[in-house]
Amino acid sequence: MKIKAKLNLGVGVLFTLILILGIVAAAYVNVLKTETENILVANYNSIAYSKNILFNLQSNEMGALSAVEKNVQSQEKNVTEQGEKETTSELRSNFEEYKKNTSDKATKEQLSITTFRIMDMNMQAIQIKSSIASKTAGNAVFWILITATLCFIIAFTLLINLPSNIADPIKELTNSIKQISEKNYKERLNFKSNSEFGQLASSFNTLAEKLEEYDNTNLAKVMTEKKRIDILINNMQNPVFGLDENLNILFVNEEAVKIIGMTRVEIIGKNTLDLALKNDLIRSLISDINSPVQLNSNKIEPLKIYSGGKESYFEKEILHLRIVPTGEEHEKLMGHVIILKNITEFKELDFAKNNFIATVSHEFKTPISAIKMSLLLLEKEQVGTLNEEQGNLVKSINEDINRLLKITGELLNMTQIESGNIQLSILPVDIKEIIEYASNAIKTQAKQKQINIKINMPNYVPPILADSEKTAWVLTNLISNAVRYSYENSDINVQIKVINKKVMVSVTDTGQGIPPQYLPKIFDRYFRVPGTKKEGTGLGLAISKEFMMAQGGMIDVESELGAGSKFTISLNTLA
Ligand code: ADP
Repeated sequence: MKIKAKLNLGVGVLFTLILILGIVAAAYVNVLKTETENILVANYNSIAYSKNILFNLQSNEMGALSAVEKNVQSQEKNVTEQGEKETTSELRSNFEEYKKNTSDKATKEQLSITTFRIMDMNMQAIQIKSSIASKTAGNAVFWILITATLCFIIAFTLLINLPSNIADPIKELTNSIKQISEKNYKERLNFKSNSEFGQLASSFNTLAEKLEEYDNTNLAKVMTEKKRIDILINNMQNPVFGLDENLNILFVNEEAVKIIGMTRVEIIGKNTLDLALKNDLIRSLISDINSPVQLNSNKIEPLKIYSGGKESYFEKEILHLRIVPTGEEHEKLMGHVIILKNITEFKELDFAKNNFIATVSHEFKTPISAIKMSLLLLEKEQVGTLNEEQGNLVKSINEDINRLLKITGELLNMTQIESGNIQLSILPVDIKEIIEYASNAIKTQAKQKQINIKINMPNYVPPILADSEKTAWVLTNLISNAVRYSYENSDINVQIKVINKKVMVSVTDTGQGIPPQYLPKIFDRYFRVPGTKKEGTGLGLAISKEFMMAQGGMIDVESELGAGSKFTISLNTLA
């Protein structure tokens, strides 16, 4: 049955029941009313007339006889009971007798008796009718109660059944929709009825069936795509690790299994934090996985891994997988993919390059030193006097040789740094001596440009813990740069300050300065500010930085374009 029909039926039945109850009650009330009126009109009036007749018979007042006459007449019009008609005729004939002789006691007596009989007859009738009325009232109460009970039972049944009849399927439907939204496409509705809910259930089931079908085809597609991606990842030459947001390993490719030294079963599904406790490679893979900024790639040391009997080098790249889930506003971290780029080939080439540069630089050193010695002999005119032109040539060769010496020195230093072979000898040293050595080394260069090197230092400077040779190299490079990039006839200030158990040495010039956009790159290898005309390799500051860091110190730069630059190094004191 349709819901609308059910509702109509329920409300209709209730309406009919109320109507029946009303009719039954009204009918009984009506019967009771008629019966009461009947008693009043038919019997009570006859008793009243009889009472008046008796009263007037006892009265000696004038007009009593006519009052009796009036009441006898009224009684004659109010004959209602069986036998009352005959008694009333008798009353009339008694009264006619009495009228002829009012002093006749026997006639008066007879009239009174007849009146009493009418009175008695009506009183008996009242008694009978009142018992009938009370029976009718009893019946009324009975039937009204029956009808009311019936109404209550039917209304109660409707109250229990009708709302749940409508609400239950809605509840079931809501649950099923929830299941579907949770991708449980096997969910079905089983409404047996032919109502609208039946139709709804069949539409819902069709929808669920279609979704299931769609999901199955999608699943198949996803599985094919997954296989494709699996093959792709497995065939990659670089080891790949897929982690979820909790750092559990989701997948690894063949290359990853090879280098990790564990079987696939031992890795998949395991948490990397647990695996890191016993596997050094996994530990270094996840060491910086949660660091907010990805470090500049050329600053990250490549991973050196022994596998398959040889040494390989890998560069780690971490991709953080973030997506905005459907219906949400903010990005959520879904996992990470770690790719190890095999850079062994480049590393080998790099070794070869470093070896070559180191060998060449080293081999250059001896002949350059020999040339320098010969030039010194020429300069000092120990092998004969030089004319002015020859003197100028010797001076120029000397400058070129110095430059060549600087370049080979820088290249040698760089090869040492790149191969991780910085040899340090850290001892307590006096920074003043190092500064004096550095400024003396640049003295001639400064003199040529009429540049004055001013050294400013407090009376007492605590000894520093440093490699004096490397620190001297750094300061020589900084003062040399200050001279090279300053204008003629200017000052260079070398200032020493002792702050918080650190010795800070700054070299300030009033030269061309460095454009702000290049300041972050100034310590990068081979970087030179575009447009720099002076000769150079772009290695001096990079080497300086490496030397400072290796000693636990620091190097920093402040510069204003057109106003000059200030390079500061800081070193630890003995204290
Ligand atoms: P090089 O001087 O051999 O080019 P450096 O590493 O010493 O290499 O310096 C890198 C670059 O930084 C220089 O090419 C130059 O452009 C800039 N630079 C270094 N020192 C100064 C300075 N004191 N004033 C202005 N520019 C400088």
